[in-house]
Amino acid sequence: MRFGIVGGGIGGLTSALVMARRGHDVAVFERSSAIREVGAGVQISPNAGCVLRSLGLGDAFDAISVHPERMVFRRWEDDSIIRANDFDEAFADQYGMPLASVARTDLIEILAQAVAAVPTINVSLASRVTHVEPGDDSSTIFFADATSLSFDVVIGADGIHSVVRPCVGGADSARFSGSVAYRALVPLDAVKDLPVDFTNRVGPDRHVVSYFIGKDRRYLNLVCISPEDSWTTESWTEPGTLDDLRERFAGWSPELLSILDRVEEPVFRWALYDREPLEQWGIGSTTLLGDACHPMLPFMAQGSCQAIEDAAILGRCLDDVHAGDGPDGAAAVAALRRYETARQGRTARVQTTSFMNRDLFHMPDGPMQQGRDEFLASGVAGFGPLEWVYSYDPLTAAI
Ligand SMILES: Cc1cc2nc3c(=O)[nH]c(=O)nc-3n(C[C@H](O)[C@H](O)[C@H](O)COP(=O)(O)OP(=O)(O)OC[C@H]3O[C@@H](n4cnc5c(N)ncnc54)[C@H](O)[C@@H]3O)c2cc1C
Repeated sequence: MRFGIVGGGIGGLTSALVMARRGHDVAVFERSSAIREVGAGVQISPNAGCVLRSLGLGDAFDAISVHPERMVFRRWEDDSIIRANDFDEAFADQYGMPLASVARTDLIEILAQAVAAVPTINVSLASRVTHVEPGDDSSTIFFADATSLSFDVVIGADGIHSVVRPCVGGADSARFSGSVAYRALVPLDAVKDLPVDFTNRVGPDRHVVSYFIGKDRRYLNLVCISPEDSWTTESWTEPGTLDDLRERFAGWSPELLSILDRVEEPVFRWALYDREPLEQWGIGSTTLLGDACHPMLPFMAQGSCQAIEDAAILGRCLDDVHAGDGPDGAAAVAALRRYETARQGRTARVQTTSFMNRDLFHMPDGPMQQGRDEFLASGVAGFGPLEWVYSYDPLTAAI
């Protein structure tokens, strides 16, 4: 069958590889003039890393991965540890592989290289899609240059501001979360003294996540979340300043302020949007994948992971629709609906939990915060609260 994929991000490229492996012809349409990623770091937990391995990317993925030694929650004003969990061998044994932190550019590069090596995947850059017309036997993609192309199946993997989403009934607007993320990097030489932890410093209305990324652990990646009344610029990322970042975290622990002093500019500001879980992901032979159908706040570090899981489950649902059989509208449409049903509950739960984590992380000091910290300190053993996220295996999960 012929697949048209709108969007060449992590979700679009992973699904292209998944479909090509099953013998389908794939065309990817990316509006940018190059396959590239914005943003600095991303964490890939075992529930998604296993899919990359299954695509033959294990060595390439290992080569770009940093494996944090611990997940640590710290208190904003004195850096005291609220809770620490080891990412030790027992973690890797339990979940099949370690959790990895990677530079987004490195991840997109290994995906793009893998895609380029497959003759049945064709990537068209500078191809801006305006809309899609879903049909039962085929769906048609319309481009900004007034051309159009039809495919047996169309996958909208075009991110949070998806143009495919409204074509399958998702006409809601993305909602601004009231928070912005300042993204900043510190070169390794300036932070060699720091442990290789995934750290989350939580405080009133704000939190700061830091972890090493890049081949040879070349940067400490900082994501500093801070409140913002509204977002009025058209772009959802814009340059920020280090002074502004420091001002927003004035009064936080000397350890954090010392890290901020070592930041290498530029600093970027990223508006954080999400949407409510969507009930209908597809019509006929068109479906959605990744942020196009389940954009979430990054407070579970799962957006890319869920897009990668989607690709694996979609591939499995299409296993009965044979590439060599030619178009089989009814079977393909049934497979897409099965995929959507298989994914909706889990992705909605991740979206909702990510949204709730904002309140959990940003509690003002007081009895509620003390209760939270006591719960985190004493509470569920191991990675209990994340068990349902990490233990899911999209390669074998029931669909
Ligand atoms: C601060 C921050 C930190 C994060 N940290 C993590 C993390 O640690 N772990 C994790 O798993 N996730 C994380 N995420 C979430 C993750 O970045 C997203 O969920 C993920 O990038 C979604 O991938 P996608 O392929 O669905 O969409 P995108 O990455 O948005 O890709 C969509 C692609 O479609 C293209 N496109 C858009 N419109 C069109 C069009 N009209 N025509 C053609 N092409 C088009 C775009 O150019 C882009 O290349 C984080 C997000 C943020 C904001």
